Amino acid sequence: MSYAVISDVHGNREALQAVLQEIEGKGIKDILFLGDAVGYGPAPDECLETLVSACSVLIAGNHDWGAADKMGIGRFNPFARLALGWTKEVMKKANLTLLKGLPLTAELRDKGAFLVHGSPKEPEKWQYLLTPEDAEENFPFFAQPLCFVGHSHLPFIIERTSEGDMTVHRNEATVTDGSRYIINPGSVGQPRDGDPRASFAVVENNLITIRRVEYDIPKTQAEMRAAGLPEFLVERLERGW
Ligand code: ZN
Repeated sequence: MSYAVISDVHGNREALQAVLQEIEGKGIKDILFLGDAVGYGPAPDECLETLVSACSVLIAGNHDWGAADKMGIGRFNPFARLALGWTKEVMKKANLTLLKGLPLTAELRDKGAFLVHGSPKEPEKWQYLLTPEDAEENFPFFAQPLCFVGHSHLPFIIERTSEGDMTVHRNEATVTDGSRYIINPGSVGQPRDGDPRASFAVVENNLITIRRVEYDIPKTQAEMRAAGLPEFLVERLERGW
């Protein structure tokens, strides 16, 4: 069994296409999406439509529900709010309706996997799951061996053994009987770990790996400037944080 997990595309078509090409090149057909199709980037409609046709499962991110007016945008930072205002205005009505209909979580028994954008404990609160301590608090809130989260744009694999020992793996981990895992594949469209390359995860049999792929950053940046999106958001793409 092999599949890919992608998250936080944020309207970045160039990054999404580079990642999908890489996944296709590996012969992987099954792709799961962890939310935030839109917000920040210049191509929200195209990204959402591409994700709908490429992914077998899609769940909601806070930017998706914010764009669709399913939640208020008061809690977003000023740059995110500006970008969401723009996103709402340019997107097709049918796509906003689609975003509104995305579920908060998904449980995939065949893969032994649970999907949530923020945290399994309180999916609707969009909390950031960042540390082994955060993970410890969240392991009781899903039943499957694997849980995939997004939201922080920081890739990691946290393993908890049956004895309760926690290990943070940076790039890869072998799924071991009795251990459970919380995995963040990182962000396709706006990485924040200091590496500007698009990030995603691949699961092949028992091996989970975080992958990086280069994409045409200047092209996305030019589109963002043409759309009048905030310069801070444009520049952070090349910094990767
Ligand atoms: Zn995000």
